[in-house]
Amino acid sequence: MTRAIDAGLVTCTECASVWPRGQGTCGRCGNALQSRHTRSLQRVWAFWLTGLLCYVPANLSPMLVTSTLTGTSANTIVGGAVEIAKHGDIGIAAIVLGASVAIPVAKFLAIAYLAVSVQRGSARSPAARLHLYEAVEFIGRWSMIDVFVVAILSALVQLSVVASIRPGPAALTFALSVIFTMLSARSFDTRLIWDEHNRKT
Ligand SMILES: [Zn+2]
Repeated sequence: MTRAIDAGLVTCTECASVWPRGQGTCGRCGNALQSRHTRSLQRVWAFWLTGLLCYVPANLSPMLVTSTLTGTSANTIVGGAVEIAKHGDIGIAAIVLGASVAIPVAKFLAIAYLAVSVQRGSARSPAARLHLYEAVEFIGRWSMIDVFVVAILSALVQLSVVASIRPGPAALTFALSVIFTMLSARSFDTRLIWDEHNRKT
């Protein structure tokens, strides 16, 4: 198997055209050409860590602040999901827990695993790792579902006179966490997965 890098070629990551190595920008779409994004992993880890730092307060501070005539209560994401489940909406509670706990944690683990495997020069199942990366990229666009749930809940309850629901500080930190994990995944150069595989075969 020949890699573009061995043939003195470089592929444009935006439009998939191929150019001689040394050419700076793609002649078709103008994208900057780089055989391998050398700082890829530094960027992955920087965004990953920032995302994680936003994810912690997103779970500890209130996502929903509910005011009724009797007083004000604040719910964290997990607390809110428990509250929703108590009202009988098990389905919505499951969506909230899945979107705000299961998916983000799985994404953090998946990106860390991909980065570590490339750093260690692992040649193990590159195709499976590429699929894992594609799954992370695919899930990314659904991660904001939690923020939407809060927005919809707020809008619905705003209509009643006796109670009001406002998004808490966690809504912001959660959204930031989602954005930074998406940037982290985007920074990962998938071509790095195949380099070690090619060296061994
Ligand atoms: Zn191009």
